[in-house]
Amino acid sequence: MLQTAVKPHDTRDIPNWRLGHHCGVAGIRAPQAMDVQRPLFYMLFAQQHRGQEACGVAWGDETGLRSDRRLGMVAGAADDWLSGSVSAKAGIGHVRYATQGGGGLANAQPLAVSCSQGRIALAHNGNLSNGAELRARLVADGSIFQTTSDSEIILHRIARSKMRDKESVLREALAGVEGAYSLCLIWDGAMVAVRDPMGFRPLHLAEEGGVSYVASETCALRALGPMDWREIAPGECVIVDDDGTRSFFLDPRPRRARCIFEPIYFARPDSWVFGRSVHASRRALGAALAAADTITPDVVVPVPDSGTLAAMGYAEVSGRPFAFGLTRNHYAGRSFILPTKGERELAVRMKLHAVEDVVAGKSVVIVDDSLVRGTTSGIIVRLLREAGAREVHLRLSSPELKWPCYYGIDIPTRDELISNRLDADGIAAHIGADSVRFLTVDGMRQALGAESGEFCSACFDGNYPCPVRHAGDAP
Ligand code: SF4
Repeated sequence: MLQTAVKPHDTRDIPNWRLGHHCGVAGIRAPQAMDVQRPLFYMLFAQQHRGQEACGVAWGDETGLRSDRRLGMVAGAADDWLSGSVSAKAGIGHVRYATQGGGGLANAQPLAVSCSQGRIALAHNGNLSNGAELRARLVADGSIFQTTSDSEIILHRIARSKMRDKESVLREALAGVEGAYSLCLIWDGAMVAVRDPMGFRPLHLAEEGGVSYVASETCALRALGPMDWREIAPGECVIVDDDGTRSFFLDPRPRRARCIFEPIYFARPDSWVFGRSVHASRRALGAALAAADTITPDVVVPVPDSGTLAAMGYAEVSGRPFAFGLTRNHYAGRSFILPTKGERELAVRMKLHAVEDVVAGKSVVIVDDSLVRGTTSGIIVRLLREAGAREVHLRLSSPELKWPCYYGIDIPTRDELISNRLDADGIAAHIGADSVRFLTVDGMRQALGAESGEFCSACFDGNYPCPVRHAGDAP
């Protein structure tokens, strides 16, 4: 099923389970061979928040292509990728969260092939909304797939092209491919970066000292030192090779649908996505939440770390004091199996702790970025009440999450999303809070400067910007 978000581990049993990140890509192309693994390591390390299940790098030039893919996090590859033993003109890398196609090493990226179009390695961020249909057509036509990831569909379409130059091949291969794809490829020694015409996922390009870099997020580019960057535009393809850098557009009239959840939750706060600081975006969301609120709390407390910046914005506009009334144990892992409700609650208690002298006897507003199932929020409310909070009001810096994502974010089914079963007052009663309030869709759009209709907000409003096929619970 296209919409099935397959996870390598059943994270539904893991407390504090949140929305799954998607993936992150990185790329580098130098005029002469150099150690490309080291900068790739740092760029992937900076984007670890975008995927923790697997990581990989590929490197090469006109004469060869090699790759190293691993399960687990980037730090586990430090001994090899920082050893300085690799020299190549081009390299790409990937961190993976298994939104589509499941986990396992077979689906780790970059995918590397040798085909009629040459030696190609591909790293992909996003999901194809017509991937199931495209795959079925390719299989019926004789294609043999090595992975269950829809990224391989793009490789097959490139390999089957009869065109001879890269621009023509890409135009042909990507025509009819729908959904989200921010791609970074090595192609016979060239680095190629492609962003889908709707621009769902971010992709950035930088050049420093004659070397070109590509990354999903600007934090990855800045990890290498100060450098100027630009957003790769929706529908833009950039090719960097020995002849320099050139770009062209897949679609002269792209219809933009940038993922509004990137600034709300997914991107790192020190990144810029879609031309705006993530830090500033989250503060603006919290400010909008406070501007529409009617209560006067004694203290504004973030759910760490996801609600911190929105809580700061809320406190600034409300004029109420901001304080860390919850602390987070950063050493609490997410790898243990928790079959019972009691154990899940215990695990949240291991991870989050209420600070009594901040909340005791007080009316507390707790701020988080979004509400998924409500399970963790209920435990947080109990923690605060046990610490002596007089009132607990939950505020969310995004609207009610009601629809799944088909473009690369792991959102549960509609039945599992609490906002499809209960309204705000019902949720408050369910989790034991005095009140629950969400930012409205209009408030979210205004706070993010997203009124122009260039953003996807389908998980909030059900308005999917491109067709969702074989998706049982789409509107
Ligand atoms: S449905 Fe939601 S998470 Fe998915 S691309 Fe659209 S805004 Fe982003």
